[in-house]
Amino acid sequence: AAKALPYGVQLFHPALESRAVRRLGLAADLRRALDSGQLEVHFQPKVTIQDRHLIGVECLARWQHPAHGEVSPEDFVAVAEHTGQLHRLTEVVLTAGLRHCREWADAGRPLSIAVNLSARTLLDPRFPDQVHELLKQYQVPPQQVTFEISEPGMLGEIERALPTLYRLRDLGVRLSVDDFGTGASSLSYLRQLPVHEVKIDDSFVQGMATDSGDLAIVRAVIGLSREFGLTVVAEGVESELTFDLLAELGCEIGQGYFFSRPLPVERLNTWLSAQTE
Ligand code: C2E
Ligand code: CA
Ligand code: CA
Ligand code: CA
Repeated sequence: AAKALPYGVQLFHPALESRAVRRLGLAADLRRALDSGQLEVHFQPKVTIQDRHLIGVECLARWQHPAHGEVSPEDFVAVAEHTGQLHRLTEVVLTAGLRHCREWADAGRPLSIAVNLSARTLLDPRFPDQVHELLKQYQVPPQQVTFEISEPGMLGEIERALPTLYRLRDLGVRLSVDDFGTGASSLSYLRQLPVHEVKIDDSFVQGMATDSGDLAIVRAVIGLSREFGLTVVAEGVESELTFDLLAELGCEIGQGYFFSRPLPVERLNTWLSAQTE
């Protein structure tokens, strides 16, 4: 009879294996998707808490894989990072965002766009020039564009990323610290970085209605951001209760399922016309 493996020894861990192998297999598919327009961008409204006025949208990448179905952005962003396709991914999302931004402005309904950057993009010295070119091409004023940079992702890279951040700021685009509160050095970031906006991570926002610790963090971040003259955005607003609490605390902008899920552009446009009626 075949010898059994000693207790506790596995040849591979099925969950890990499938994720790694899937990511490897996805690299070539992602390249094709990026080149053929298979990668879509959805738009999630950012709304003022005071009067629920739509001010902008976050551009979120979506990939419907022909065989595997929907791949989560976390997975394909990781694939892009590890296979040298990050630059192309950012370009595809930014270009789609700017194209629609131009269209909304032409239709008399200007909206700002927010695009996610990986920390790694900030290490690419050519990135600000490309942003400058694209802004010119689509004739979008730079103040209409925000780049969101996730706080944990910046860990350890700040020094090297600073020159790019300053060049982006000098172009006139806005910079946002995303998932704020989940990294290790949150408070010092606010002093160090040339940013305009702070996005409080959804974990605190979702907890604030039931957990006094989360509520305290949200309150402190709002207060601190105000001291620094930064715009505060709460992400992951899912309930009326959370919305009311944020209004009480004086949070300026919210985003989340309570207002709207991320939508394909046609559905966002329908939502827009319903809002302006
Ligand atoms: P993120 O920047 O924190 O984006 C917000 C995520 O929260 C999105 O997930 C969005 O669908 C989800 N969300 C929005 N409102 C709610 C809510 O009320 N409740 C809950 N539970 N979730 C909500 P998504 O689209 O799966 O994106 C995940 C992450 O992938 C993003 O997190 C972002 O870091 C990254 N990502 C997405 N698109 C891009 C991209 O084009 N480039 C880069 N570099 N990263 C991207
Ligand atoms: Ca984001
Ligand atoms: Ca976020
Ligand atoms: Ca988050």
